[in-house]
Amino acid sequence: MSNPTRSLAARRRFLKLLGGSAALLPLAGIHGCSGDEPAAPSRSTPAPAAPATDAAPKAPAADVSLARLNEDDATARALGYRHDAGQVDTARFPQFTAEQFCHNCALFQASGGEEWAGCTIFPGRSVNANGWCSAWVKKA
Ligand code: SF4
Repeated sequence: MSNPTRSLAARRRFLKLLGGSAALLPLAGIHGCSGDEPAAPSRSTPAPAAPATDAAPKAPAADVSLARLNEDDATARALGYRHDAGQVDTARFPQFTAEQFCHNCALFQASGGEEWAGCTIFPGRSVNANGWCSAWVKKA
């Protein structure tokens, strides 16, 4: 027999390990993989053939599909995140300096000049390039 309390604790550990990547599972088509079902046909329409060019491949773009982080999110509030660094509560976060922004933070995941991009502190969400939170780390 299984112990419901132990089972619940194990489930919580598992979900914690999955972290933000759990939200990506449906996108990866992992759900519904029972092994008994035939592979689902691709839902995407084949892309038309691109004309041949000599242009160098571009760097991968940042994921602009991420939902914007809500400043009222519990973690955002705990870390004092603001979309506009000028709105930082400097009494609560005296370590903040006017030169600190998401765009010069090592944890900002923009590939080049995006206004909104991911942040490793907030998986699955995008933060503003001109924002700030107390996890700010100077970009090398
Ligand atoms: Fe912005 Fe860096 Fe905080 Fe992420 S960790 S919200 S990039 S300051």
